[in-house]
Amino acid sequence: TCAISPKAIVSDACASYSTLEKLNSKVRPHVDDLTQQTDFFSYYRLNLFKEGGCPFWNDENGMCANIACKVDTLDKEEDIPKIWRAAELGKLEGPVAKHPGKTAQKERPQRPLQGSLGENVGESCVVEADDECDERDYCVPEDESVTAKGDYVSLIQNPERFTGYAGDGANMVWDAIYRENCFQKSSFPHTAALGMTSVPRGPAAFDFRAVLQDAGRQQMLEQQVQQGSQGTNSALTGLGFEDECLEKRVFYRVISGMHASISTHLCWDFLNQTTGQWQPNTQCYIHRLHMHPERISNLYFNYALVTRAIAKIGPQLRSYTFCTGDDDQDAATKAKVLAVTEGAAAVPHIFDESLMFKNGEGPSLKEDFRNRFRNVSRIMDCVGCDKCRLWGKLQTAGYGAALKILFEFDNNKTPGAPELKRTELVALFNTYARLSSSMSALTEFRSMVEAAEAAE
Ligand code: FAD
Repeated sequence: TCAISPKAIVSDACASYSTLEKLNSKVRPHVDDLTQQTDFFSYYRLNLFKEGGCPFWNDENGMCANIACKVDTLDKEEDIPKIWRAAELGKLEGPVAKHPGKTAQKERPQRPLQGSLGENVGESCVVEADDECDERDYCVPEDESVTAKGDYVSLIQNPERFTGYAGDGANMVWDAIYRENCFQKSSFPHTAALGMTSVPRGPAAFDFRAVLQDAGRQQMLEQQVQQGSQGTNSALTGLGFEDECLEKRVFYRVISGMHASISTHLCWDFLNQTTGQWQPNTQCYIHRLHMHPERISNLYFNYALVTRAIAKIGPQLRSYTFCTGDDDQDAATKAKVLAVTEGAAAVPHIFDESLMFKNGEGPSLKEDFRNRFRNVSRIMDCVGCDKCRLWGKLQTAGYGAALKILFEFDNNKTPGAPELKRTELVALFNTYARLSSSMSALTEFRSMVEAAEAAE
């Protein structure tokens, strides 16, 4: 079979980059249609400004921004001319708090206290209680209860792109995610075992020296962090990580792939500080992605993983009630959902989740894996830029939903649909849309680099 085993890299031998790219070119129009043309999937409710802010370190030390720090963060972008800093970056000023289905929400049937949902009552119709949490959740779910604090956000009006958020605050968040939540203290895999040999296009002939040197330094640092944290773990010395740390490797790849996708978007939709235009920034791409093929590999890995989750949940969504309050819209939404799920199912065995949590320490790792992923979702409250936090939270929730579908539900054994909240579904499909547009952007970037090389 040609499944992308969690053990494997995305390699040419099997489900290659080009296989995934071809799939993406077919499915992407449906994904865009779903996430951009339906109310259900283009509004997301979340608590963007959690009381207490960052739960992991003291907000007062200035390292982690909260609402007040948001303006500070943007003001520190000294290179951005004021005139369009206000006009363009001003759009970061948070969500639009309205939702077309809000009135209808009040009339929705309430969740029965116990037992199954009523006939024709989909999970999406249910207004959830505060803090309701399923032990199978991989992230802290956003809830839509009327009492919960949160806003509806138009994802279309707040696109993920360059924001200028950088420096200590951003570093601290990524650091916390990689260091504290990636099993590094116990037995973090060596970079070489992470499938980093899959190079989409070798950068060898490419001579952007300054960028190269800088990227080289970064890569070394990245490896030092990873090697350093496992250096004292003698149990791993000489052992093949292939069998030893499968789940941990997958965890790392999911995080790194998400990070790579965020980087791709900020490079693709970048604010040219000279012209004031939003446009692709090739240097940004080279620096953050091209010179780090392992990051690109992890992004493709995530695409395969989420594609599999979407395909797996597809049959369940046939009977899902999309409560938009309008029958025609409901039907149209479902048709668009099925176009995506059926498209995603076109490459069978794209990712084989059945290999995980099986052998060795695998089964005992599941809870740890889940808890660590929940931690990552909590760390998102430490992101000091509202828009980055919005997309960080959404994507963490999206991966959380994907992992839940992959590892907590067996289509053959579990009766009934996985209880996915509306927010989880919205996050899942929008995360897929992010990966999908990242893949397209990477293809474009690669062509730009080739064109630049040819012109030299
Ligand atoms: P960073 O991207 O901050 O990376 C820090 C370090 O992590 C690097 O030095 C490298 O060692 C390592 N690293 C980088 N990429 C990877 C990878 N894929 N895999 C493994 N290791 C890696 N900025 C925006 O402009 N728009 C956004 O929408 C946005 N969203 C964000 C969301 C979150 C959750 C966070 C934490 C930050 C976000 N940022 C966003 C900021 C952005 O991600 C960078 O932090 C910022 O641009 C500074 O980049 P940097 O060059 O310092 O490297």
